[in-house]
Amino acid sequence: MSDKRKLNIKEIKDQLTSVNTELKDGVFVFTGPMSINDFAEAIKKPANEIITHYFKQGKMYNINHTLDEEAIAELCLEYGYDFQKENEVNAQNFMEQVQIVDSESDLQSRPPIITVMGHVDHGKTTLIDKIRNANVASGEAGGITQHTGAYQVEWKDQKITFLDTPGHEAFTSMRARGAKVTDIVVLVVAADDGVMPQTKEAIDHTKAAGVPMIVFVNKMDKPGADPERVKGELSQADVVAEDWGGDIQFIYGSGLKGEGIDQLFDAINIQAELLELKANPNRLAIGTVVESRIDKGRGVVATLIVENGTLMSRDFIVAGSNYGKIRTLETTVGQKIEEAGPGTPVTVTGLNYTPNAGDKFFGFQDEKFAKNLAEEKAFADKQADLKSRSIIEVKEGQKVLNVIVKADVQGTSEAVKHSLQKLENDEIKINVVRNSVGTISKSDILLAQASNAIICTFNIRPTGDVKKYAEDQKVEIRTYSIIYKMLEEVEDMINGMMKPKYQEEITGEANIIKVFSYSKVGNIAGCLMEKGYIESGSKVRLIRNGRVIHEGVLDSLQRGPNALKRADSGKDFGAHIKKYDDIKEGDIIEAYKDVEVTKK
Ligand code: GDP
Repeated sequence: MSDKRKLNIKEIKDQLTSVNTELKDGVFVFTGPMSINDFAEAIKKPANEIITHYFKQGKMYNINHTLDEEAIAELCLEYGYDFQKENEVNAQNFMEQVQIVDSESDLQSRPPIITVMGHVDHGKTTLIDKIRNANVASGEAGGITQHTGAYQVEWKDQKITFLDTPGHEAFTSMRARGAKVTDIVVLVVAADDGVMPQTKEAIDHTKAAGVPMIVFVNKMDKPGADPERVKGELSQADVVAEDWGGDIQFIYGSGLKGEGIDQLFDAINIQAELLELKANPNRLAIGTVVESRIDKGRGVVATLIVENGTLMSRDFIVAGSNYGKIRTLETTVGQKIEEAGPGTPVTVTGLNYTPNAGDKFFGFQDEKFAKNLAEEKAFADKQADLKSRSIIEVKEGQKVLNVIVKADVQGTSEAVKHSLQKLENDEIKINVVRNSVGTISKSDILLAQASNAIICTFNIRPTGDVKKYAEDQKVEIRTYSIIYKMLEEVEDMINGMMKPKYQEEITGEANIIKVFSYSKVGNIAGCLMEKGYIESGSKVRLIRNGRVIHEGVLDSLQRGPNALKRADSGKDFGAHIKKYDDIKEGDIIEAYKDVEVTKK
């Protein structure tokens, strides 16, 4: 059969544009965010002038500070220039920018791509595994639950593709890289637990991505199941069931028992039909990398999802900033196939590098074109990377926690990196120095040592040699297999690095009943403790007619001749405020202390 697939080359060639960032005839033409340094150079002004401009607004920036588009616009106005933002399609961004438009007559419907999200322990993994084991096309070794990133099931003659890394980390890290793979989100909510924090997060991410949702109310087999409550809680989060007047399909079932899964498939098919998902099978493939790893026997094994076009063996693909040739194609459960069309997950071998999860890929037949494009992209990516590395902007007083992430699969390592970066705050910057797949190497340890980083691994254990080497180099390796565990520990580490924060707590209030004057010590307040307590050495405020007139500390607390440690509510005592004598009957002494607040 002759290959009638449309090449992707023409679209790319036609759309690659180059824009000169420059000031021309009073108009500043630019393509996106740029550093103060680059901006200053482009408008031929000293960078210091711009730094000073911000300094006057109380903002301390250095020349590497990135100006976003709004800031660039403001500066242009400041200088009296017009500005014009132009979209540049270049080697670095072409995968996101190039528009592939197929004519209506070439389009055919394609299977929907599903991501399962929900709170931890609500049953995502159980549901995904159940679906996989019960419904994946027959003929393969039964019962394997090895995760390959995605798989496809067939229901009533319709194919459905599932991404099998549950949770919103994978979803958001993919999305952060510009990959919009998911067509429909299945939100799993345990009927006995209801809406929990990650349920809400999943809803937020789904809405932000503009992806439709189906709710699977799970664990209906449990005695504590209360689906009405779940429905109520979800409606508060604006996820309203159809029978409550909303437009979200709710399915009730049990992943564990395999109940409700048929109904879930029906719901997915209904939703997919509404979405009218279409693609052109007659072109070279375009899609997204879901996962990649190095297999001892087979080399690089990558799971891809074809979104448009068809992938065949001997095709070249450019993914990330590399290119490679596809040697074999298999379904994600290991059946050899000749080609993979739109909406299909496929495991490929033959690449000589591990592309990143979330990388888009483009298929080509012309090796030279693919090679050049990849080289150009690699160069542009490197430049951008160098730039962003030198720009790790550390704010005044901010500390940096350097981390090297190693994981068994690319998807995880990306997800881990993404989650780690969300832990950053004003005081601590998290810098992921390296983020890669595979066992820990000596070079990882050297890098960790050089950059004073800790190594966090995921489903990877250091071998004896490496462990010893790390110990010798005094590099800390932390091993994890649960993402939340790791985030918790890193959070603890961050808290340890942060300055403690204090919050004032009022311990008590006393009335001054009488003032005793002594020539040697000054004025002693004879007090009655109204509420709470006061301690010797307490910080105090003196309040007169509702106004604070002094802040200080007690330097004596006594009852009669006896020194007191503490006076409680209802008790009387005598006290002196250090170096202060202006006290009157009727004044109030408010005692307080600074307590360390749990840092967050
Ligand atoms: P995930 O963290 O969302 O992936 O949750 P898991 O799939 O790991 O499930 C968490 C726990 O809930 C496991 O012990 C499962 O066996 C259990 N579980 C999952 N689905 C069901 C269900 O439908 N009914 C019951 N009774 N237990 C379930």
